[in-house]
Amino acid sequence: MMDMLQNIDVGLVVLNKNNEIQLWNSFMENHSGLIASNTRNKDLFELFPEIEKDWFQHKVESVFQLKTRAFSIWEQRPYIFKFKNYRPITGIARFMYQNISIFPIVSTTGEVDNICIIVYDVTDIATNRDALSLANKQLEELSRTDRLTGLNNRGYWQERQEAEFARNQRYKNDTSLVIFDIDHFKKVNDTHGHQAGDEVIRQCSAALKECARDVDICGRYGGEEFVVILSEANSKQAMIFAERLRLAIEALEVKYKQIEIKFTVSLGICGLTEEVETAQHWLEKADNALYESKENGRNKTTLAN
Ligand code: GH3
Ligand code: MG
Ligand code: MG
Repeated sequence: MMDMLQNIDVGLVVLNKNNEIQLWNSFMENHSGLIASNTRNKDLFELFPEIEKDWFQHKVESVFQLKTRAFSIWEQRPYIFKFKNYRPITGIARFMYQNISIFPIVSTTGEVDNICIIVYDVTDIATNRDALSLANKQLEELSRTDRLTGLNNRGYWQERQEAEFARNQRYKNDTSLVIFDIDHFKKVNDTHGHQAGDEVIRQCSAALKECARDVDICGRYGGEEFVVILSEANSKQAMIFAERLRLAIEALEVKYKQIEIKFTVSLGICGLTEEVETAQHWLEKADNALYESKENGRNKTTLAN
């Protein structure tokens, strides 16, 4: 029986009421580097200062007094004993994730003088779960991101725009929407090829990211159309932003292979006011202003009326 307990693939520790170690099996020896004879009658918390004493003692006391089991799971507390993780496959985890079960050892007289702690190595489960949730997060990010530019894609940007509109209905903070479109972009494609066109789109969005703040919500709305929601910006402030962006793009020299491409954009702005009825209406007003910029000769910014 002792042999079996010694070689079982879980950690077994028996503690008395003074937190002194009475049994330390080979699993515990292997992972802690402490042989059983060096742990015998030693205080658990002295050997393992990383164990949070108050929390652990609280658990242990209930086992002694109520004679019931107690548990600790890795989702709440990754480990009790800080053991290094040596497994080659799950090498991503630095420490062994552990589930712990504590149960009373009831003597023939019905007394509980000792408790037993079982330590389960759940590193594989934990790292798989972590890897899965990381993959899910990355998938979610991919589904919201435009491949070419790394900006929010149209679908996700629209979700954000609707949320911003709804938020504004409640809080009435200054918010503006800017939409812009590259001028004569067809000519770029026709003259230099589609890949040169892609590079222009990429650099244009890089200029946008450069001009925007972290809180602004930028997106690629269509082929060479971009949108930004400027939070805490009224029309006047949005105009300053738009003009800064327009001039930055005008100054760009996109190099593709041996050629240098210059281009401009036309912009439309709509500050969110009472008369804007829906999120869609907000975008339409900005788009009409953009159209006016095009009509009036391009490379211009127009404020919606
Ligand atoms: P305007 O000044 O009136 O905006 O003229 P424009 O030539 O830019 O006209 P329009 O906006 O209608 O042209 C958009 C062109 O952009 C048509 C389409 O072939 C091209 N396009 C759309 N998406 C992409 C893309 O991802 N990459 C490239 N290279 N071209 C694209
Ligand atoms: Mg265009
Ligand atoms: Mg267009």
